[in-house]
Amino acid sequence: MKKKLGLLYGGKSAEHNVSLQTAKAVTAALDLYKFDVYPVYISIDGTWTEGEKLETPVSTIEELKFTGNGGMEHVLSMLAQGKYDVVFPLLHGPNGEDGTVQGLLEVLNVPYVGNGVLASSAGMDKVVMKDIFAQAGLKQVGYTHMTRMEWEQDKEAGCTLIEREIGWPCFVKPANLGSSVGISKCQSKEELACAMEEAFQYDRKVIIEEGVVAREIEVGILGNESPVCSVIGEIVPKKDFYDYKAKYEDDDTALIIPADLTDAQKAEMEQLAIRAFRSLDCSGLVRADFFLMESGSLLINEVNTMPGFTPFSMFPLLWKEAGVEYPQLIEKMIDLAVERHTEKQ
Ligand code: ATP
Ligand code: MG
Ligand code: MG
Ligand code: MG
Repeated sequence: MKKKLGLLYGGKSAEHNVSLQTAKAVTAALDLYKFDVYPVYISIDGTWTEGEKLETPVSTIEELKFTGNGGMEHVLSMLAQGKYDVVFPLLHGPNGEDGTVQGLLEVLNVPYVGNGVLASSAGMDKVVMKDIFAQAGLKQVGYTHMTRMEWEQDKEAGCTLIEREIGWPCFVKPANLGSSVGISKCQSKEELACAMEEAFQYDRKVIIEEGVVAREIEVGILGNESPVCSVIGEIVPKKDFYDYKAKYEDDDTALIIPADLTDAQKAEMEQLAIRAFRSLDCSGLVRADFFLMESGSLLINEVNTMPGFTPFSMFPLLWKEAGVEYPQLIEKMIDLAVERHTEKQ
């Protein structure tokens, strides 16, 4: 029987445009003999619109976007009436990757692709995520955090504290975001002050991390109770670090798949990635990002509960190398969503 798939994309998030790129690729790859696809566009200001059932793959994202009807009430009633057998929240960042939409779908008892409420929200907040990783005994860079109110109260004292606790270089990031949006690398108090202002544009909480010189290694994980790792890949940015432009605009970052690692390094990385997956109670999928230090030490940087997902993104490329092609990968993620839902009932 054909499955009815609701595809949520766009989103009220600074990663809105990343989701548009992903949605176009996913709709193009979905087998329309197996799925009735109902795109649901969420605008940057949070308006929901249900598109017409997809009859043919679209060539531009606008074709999906502007054929819509109804608003959020319409989509919610469709969800509540069981119009969709499964929902794919193809959303990155706040209001989509952070457990909010997942909570909505839980309440409506609709199976959905990807992580549940807890893993999504804990994985979105880099401070909470790192605290949980620390509990699980995973090694990481040093970090601290500051709220906008704490920063506003005494910026000079804030800079002095960060200089003393973290030192240079440091990375300043909005606590809840992705795609490197709002992230800066700082070498001095002056740069730090600018970076803090920039990061506070996106979040009321900012994380400040010790900057390391290391290889950047990533692995995909698929599964619910029995998660499995993909091939491991390496990112070699041409610039100072892997920023938004390097991710989505320039094509000079090298993705090396498989990464050149010893068997022992691979085994350790897989074991740490699975530990990270379990520590946040993840399900469905994640991409786990690590730093491999010159000393051989593996530090976890983060997990992404809905990683970049175009056919040229790291997560699908790692699975392709593992023998899972893009359309198959999407179907596998949908199957895992249904499996989790069924097991919970
Ligand atoms: P995404 O979700 O797209 O993977 P993100 O916005 O969650 O990205 P991070 O992965 O934490 O951000 O950081 C983005 C990039 O910045 C990393 O890939 C790396 O190049 C660099 N970077 C981040 N933190 C550090 C650090 N502590 N030391 C050195 N480099 C870092
Ligand atoms: Mg991230
Ligand atoms: Mg991300
Ligand atoms: Mg990352």
